[in-house]
Amino acid sequence: MAGQDQLATRLRKLARNLWWTWQPNVINIFRDLDPALWRATDHNPIEVLKKITPEQLARRADEAALEFRVDSAFRRLTDYLRNDESWGAVHATTLRSRPVAYFSMEFGLHESLPIYSGGLGVLAGDHLKSASDLGIPLVGVGLLYDQGYFRQWIDSQGWQQETYLPANPDLLPIAETIGPDGQPLRISIDTRVGTLHARIWKVAVGRTTLYLLDSNVPENSDSDRALTARLYGGDAQVRIRQELLLGVGGVRALHALGYHPSVIHMNEGHSAFAVLEMIRSEMEAEGTSFGETVRDIAAMSVFTTHTPVAAGHDRFPAELVEQHLGMLREALHLSHDDFMGLGRVYPQDHNEPFCMTVLALKLSRHANGVSALHGSVSRRMWQPLYPSKTEEEVPIGHITNGVHVPSWLAPQMAELYDRYLGADWPSRQRHPETWLNIERIPDGELWETRQVLKARLIDFVRRRLVIQARRRGEDDAALAAAARVLDLNVLTVGFARRFATYKRANLVLREPERLAELLLANRPIQFIFAGKAHPEDRFGKELIHNIIQVTRDPRFTGRIVFVEDYDMNVARHLVQGVDLWLNNPRRPQEASGTSGQKVLLNGGLNLSILDGWWAEAYDGSNGFAIGQGRTHASPAVQDERDHRDLLDVLFHQVIPLYYERDAEDLPRAWIDRQKAAMRSLGWRFNADRMVVDYVRYSYLPAAGGLSCSMPR
Ligand SMILES: *Cc1c(COP(=O)(O)O)cnc(C)c1O
Repeated sequence: MAGQDQLATRLRKLARNLWWTWQPNVINIFRDLDPALWRATDHNPIEVLKKITPEQLARRADEAALEFRVDSAFRRLTDYLRNDESWGAVHATTLRSRPVAYFSMEFGLHESLPIYSGGLGVLAGDHLKSASDLGIPLVGVGLLYDQGYFRQWIDSQGWQQETYLPANPDLLPIAETIGPDGQPLRISIDTRVGTLHARIWKVAVGRTTLYLLDSNVPENSDSDRALTARLYGGDAQVRIRQELLLGVGGVRALHALGYHPSVIHMNEGHSAFAVLEMIRSEMEAEGTSFGETVRDIAAMSVFTTHTPVAAGHDRFPAELVEQHLGMLREALHLSHDDFMGLGRVYPQDHNEPFCMTVLALKLSRHANGVSALHGSVSRRMWQPLYPSKTEEEVPIGHITNGVHVPSWLAPQMAELYDRYLGADWPSRQRHPETWLNIERIPDGELWETRQVLKARLIDFVRRRLVIQARRRGEDDAALAAAARVLDLNVLTVGFARRFATYKRANLVLREPERLAELLLANRPIQFIFAGKAHPEDRFGKELIHNIIQVTRDPRFTGRIVFVEDYDMNVARHLVQGVDLWLNNPRRPQEASGTSGQKVLLNGGLNLSILDGWWAEAYDGSNGFAIGQGRTHASPAVQDERDHRDLLDVLFHQVIPLYYERDAEDLPRAWIDRQKAAMRSLGWRFNADRMVVDYVRYSYLPAAGGLSCSMPR
């Protein structure tokens, strides 16, 4: 019985540190407790452990040899948390007493913690995980959304419907923070429309900690209690108040918890009010003026911009700013005009709204875009802010995004890497030499591993499609058809991301007749689509509707499918199992993109417009490019041309390469390309490289008050 108690305790401890989300062995332990329940709970180990009975646990402990596996997992976690031989312990010592504070509106850590909507959140989650692996002293700050982002389903007319599910805090890997008085910690912010209160939850992400502010407390008005109900759910009033909570509330929370960060990192402009609160608190502590203080705080502030489209930046009218930030403005001893000027490109223009990106750029000395191309687009876009500088001199550099490899790599691929790159490859993943041994992987072994992953993906899609058809009340014939979609031997193309207009989800479907040729040829292809449109985005919903119509075209039955409710789980299956990942944004609107990076690590190939990360990744042999990276003043012309280029490369390059087999039935030239992708890109587009770049080019200079010499 003592053994049994210890087993349960250790399982609960493992479940309460999100380290498990990148440990296949620990994931398998949780799944083996009850595979059906594991799936039904969105892979939530806390919920599984709450629902499983002691008898069931005892039985599974015997059947699945759990005791030994849990002991070993627990020992690995303990070692990991204690390890002080990390890269950061050597290279980031100056951050140890005063960590980096990393602010983001969303964090994508795992599907069971639904506080993200897309790439921005997943990037933030990957950043925390790599900071943990590298041992960088860093704390995250975000918001806890009771209902998260919506769950998507498609109705029988083919339209996206949204469901919001209230999360139960007892089933999330969060713990309420307690103040020095033993009471739950609270922060508050005075505004002209009432005081806003919040509690603070804590999430363990390996060695890093994430703090989440939550306004659902009894002291608040009803509308403030609902403020953090939904991610990106409200109007401008909700949005500015959420951003007030994130930025100002976030800094207050850190101070209340005893943190004195040496660096403030704003992941996108949403959190830019944080810098104002840093200034206010230093003015209060030192008795200094705004003008004297702003320089110090800007020197320690890092800003990452993500939006290459002028209209995409948060902007607020003067009345809203005064309502929600007027009291903070008074504490900063600024006039309304001077305060508004901080968020204006042209401070004298009284009609210009308050822009969060402008605020962040004015109040930080370290600013970057998220790919080389995006850096240069951002310098052009914000040149008017720096009238004395040429475009090339605008102080915005770039650090290209990367993905957290252990979170996105299929265990089967990890085994190949262990075998051929050496078991310690994860800690050497930033170095090009590590990846040279990709060439040692026998072609047949790589191809077989890929087929296993593709078969798993097809199983997953069929299971989902049966569930979807059943929900719509379709008949037995339809259910049987859903269970048979897709073919293991057919070139499989994935397209999954948010249905923002510029991503042009239906570009490849523009001419159904040409498409039919592609799909029904003797060298056919098949498509898996997934993605959510923002609930207010009519056009995005039209795109989904359009794709659903195509999936229901009898000519394409079983060859084009749509998987509902895109989340990190669906993403993981897709990026691990597809042959080809399609990415066709309207250049240059994809700041970076990261999903294609997940694909290449797993041996899939990218077929992409030369935009974002792909513009600096593609070398002619490590994937496929659509077009030559041109743009056109007319979007219609650009779409037309890109569509033609897309079909050209599919017909003339992709399909021949995939289906050309040798005597052993292996597509050698395709496999060469897979290896070229892993070898030439694996070391560059991972989050360890990204976080190390942030440490070198942003965090250490910011912590030392030095100016920044970031790559251009
Ligand atoms: C990786 C990921 C993204 C980012 O994909 P992009 O291609 O950069 O748009 C979005 N959503 C989920 C769930 C992801 O896992």
